[in-house]
Formats: sequence, structure tokens, C-alpha cells
Amino acid sequence: MIVEEKKKRKVTAIVLAAGRGSRMESRVKKQYLELEGRPLICHALEAFERSPVDNVILVAGAGEEEFCKKEIVKAGGFRKVTAVVPGGKERYHSVYEGLKAAEGCDDVLIHDGARPCVTVEIIRAAMEGAVRYGACVAGMPVKDTIKVVDRQGNADHTPDRSSMWMVQTPQAFSYKVVRRAYDRLLENPSAQEGITDDAMVVETMTSQKVRLITGSYQNIKVTTPEDLEIAGIFLRKMGKNS
Ligand code: C5P
Repeated sequence: MIVEEKKKRKVTAIVLAAGRGSRMESRVKKQYLELEGRPLICHALEAFERSPVDNVILVAGAGEEEFCKKEIVKAGGFRKVTAVVPGGKERYHSVYEGLKAAEGCDDVLIHDGARPCVTVEIIRAAMEGAVRYGACVAGMPVKDTIKVVDRQGNADHTPDRSSMWMVQTPQAFSYKVVRRAYDRLLENPSAQEGITDDAMVVETMTSQKVRLITGSYQNIKVTTPEDLEIAGIFLRKMGKNS
């Protein structure tokens, strides 16, 4: 009997580190701030290094590529990082630069470098979700009640909490789907306002459905100084468990 071997899919991760991090109120950019003994960005790169993804594209601030190659990628021994490319003004510009550099892969995972507590398990789940659904994003059900407020700051209405999730990264897609969505977005300036994640680009620019998969309440985005302390606590706990 001839058993046909399934072709292995090539999976590329794009790790974003081209933001200004202005809410961090720090002279050092947030992606390079020290967290548990190494630059913050190294924690996400470490998780992808240990995961089954084939390669990683690191999107750095324009002009910071050489610094990142030497002080982050080489110093950290991240052998899966095959390219460091400059990002752009908005997050979606940075993602687009990463997508162009990832050309030729089957599936792509997009991750905020500012989420240092991502785990290999979440990365694996996102990879499986991309194959199964074509598009998926990590997230968690919200714990708090959410209010939609009007311009004056008054509560307008309260959406049903049981249908509300907070969305994280990685966000994982069939390359063709997300590339088509971003090509359309970049050609269409009126669609660019208010874009905050990749799922939103796919939802608005294509008919592809985006599936929510379970991330973790520890997979926080480091935005303000107290987040750095909380991420440190989670990383220490994760280190003890691994
Ligand atoms: O600004 P925000 O917190 O949403 O950024 C999320 C991620 O996107 C961060 O890892 C940040 O470095 C990245 N980013 C980027 N290019 C931008 C803006 C944000 O790579 N222009």
C-alpha cells in the first residue's frame, strides 16, 4: 500500500517590536527594558525559538535593525530569526513589512513582542487553529463588565458579558488570506482608521471567519509600568513550572 506523505506546512512567525511604547514613560523603549534579566523582547523570541515554527521575522524600529541583529538576535542565540526588517508608523504598517518578508510560507503567526508571557502551548494552539480554521486569534473571556460610553463619559449600554472576549496575540492565518487582506487595506486609506489587530483586517477586508482560541490570562501586553511588574511575576512562576 502506498501511503501518501502529507507535505509539511511552512510556518513563519512575525514578532513586532517597532512601537514607540510612549505609555511606558521611559527613556528606554519598552521592548528593550530589562525584564527578568534580559530585554523584554527576548522573552517572546525565546518562546518562538522553542516552538515548532520554522522561522521568525523580527520587525524592529526603523534604524534599529543592526542593534537588534547584534544585541538581541545574536546575543540571545535566536537561531530561528531569519530576518530583521524595519517597521512603520502604525502597527499595521509594521505587520505589512513582516508579511512581505514572510512571503513563501503557508501559515503565519503575528505576535506583539510586548507580550513576553506567551507560551509554546499557545503558539502550538495558534498553529493548529490556522490549519483548521484558516484564521484564529488567542483570547480570553472578559472578567469585568464592559460599558460602551458616549462622548460625555456616560454609560450608553452594557453588552452581554458572556459574548465578550479580550483579544491577544498570537493571531494566526493562512498566509494567502492575511496577505490579501493587508494588500487591500494598504490600497484603501479609508479602511485604515481604528485598526488595532490583524483579525480586524481579515474580518473587514475578506469573508474569512476568524476563530477565537484559548490564550491565557497571563499573556498580557506590557503597556504601562505596572504591567512590567506583573509580567515579572508571571515569568518567575512560569520558570518554576518549566
Ligand atoms: O501599540 P501597541 O501596544 O498596540 O503595540 C502592540 C505591538 O505592536 C508592540 O509589540 C509594538 O512594538 C508593535 N508595534 C509595531 N509598530 C508600530 C506600532 C506598534 O511593531 N508602528
